[in-house]
Amino acid sequence: MPPSPSQSAEDYLERIHELIEEKGYARVVDIASSLRVKQASVTSMVQKLGELGYLNYEKYRGLILTEKGRMIACNIQKRHETLSRFFSLLGLDADIQKRDIEGIEHHLSPATVDVLADLAEFFETNPETLKLFLKSRKPPKA
Ligand code: ZN
Repeated sequence: MPPSPSQSAEDYLERIHELIEEKGYARVVDIASSLRVKQASVTSMVQKLGELGYLNYEKYRGLILTEKGRMIACNIQKRHETLSRFFSLLGLDADIQKRDIEGIEHHLSPATVDVLADLAEFFETNPETLKLFLKSRKPPKA
């Protein structure tokens, strides 16, 4: 495994990948607004990610992920989906989920993500157990 990118680099790769999937391109201005950072920060991170071989800039297509960049972005996306699957089973609100996942996902080790994926699968195949757990919880505070 190549050294993994830093947490904030992961945020960028994740977002660039999402933008390209959604719109077909990832503009600096869109990356900046979706990560709530300055365009200058995006420009310098994009340059760094380019030097590390994760993406390229092409005159007409704009930013594109290299094979290596796409592989990492796909892993990040898969991890996000695992967490989202797990939180959804627990009935957590979509907006809260998204915010919390963005907050923790880059800090989790593969072993932890693995356990959560297994736990999600366990609950999916044992819905009665999940129901039992959910029923055992105190009603949410208003
Ligand atoms: Zn994410």
